[in-house]
Amino acid sequence: NKLTPIRIQQVLRDVMKLCRATIPADIEIFQEIQSDCGLVLSDPTQLHQVAMDLITNAYHAMDSGSGKIIVQLKETRIQDHILVNISLKSGWYARLTVSDTGKGIDPEIIDKIFEPYFTTKEQGKGTGLGLAFVHGIIKEHGGDIQVSSTPGKGSTFDIYIPLMKKPV
Ligand code: ADP
Ligand code: MG
Repeated sequence: NKLTPIRIQQVLRDVMKLCRATIPADIEIFQEIQSDCGLVLSDPTQLHQVAMDLITNAYHAMDSGSGKIIVQLKETRIQDHILVNISLKSGWYARLTVSDTGKGIDPEIIDKIFEPYFTTKEQGKGTGLGLAFVHGIIKEHGGDIQVSSTPGKGSTFDIYIPLMKKPV
């Protein structure tokens, strides 16, 4: 895979267009994108897939056919102490957040969702490979993922990808 400096906001522009065209209008999609978010070293096709997987999962979590998906992109500074359960060096990251008002994730299975082939979807509806792919790619980038969920209320996935060094 060829890594190049890319702007996540450009990838998101395409992804959001595609999602808006395929997800029913009863599901609201909001975006808060930092337009001057810095460059990350990545493969645009892979990042496209990451965003699509997260938004598709958010959509599938809406049993009632209506709800809200929020997509955010923001430069974020990580210091060693501020996050638990994920391992990131201190420094600057692009944080991509996908939140939904879907059914949430049962605490009993939340440890398994990044495992390949783990799915709670009906036979033939889910491969269980989406989050395994997302997790693998993000780890390869030196980033990490944090997930939080309230059953019955919704879920939030925060993806951290290291920003390239800004010229001083
Ligand atoms: P798939 O979508 O094919 O089931 P994924 O790896 O994308 O596989 O997700 C694995 C499982 O994690 C899903 O089957 C679902 O149980 C859970 N999950 C992922 N994203 C969400 C979400 N936004 N809300 C609720 N559950 C989710
Ligand atoms: Mg999926």
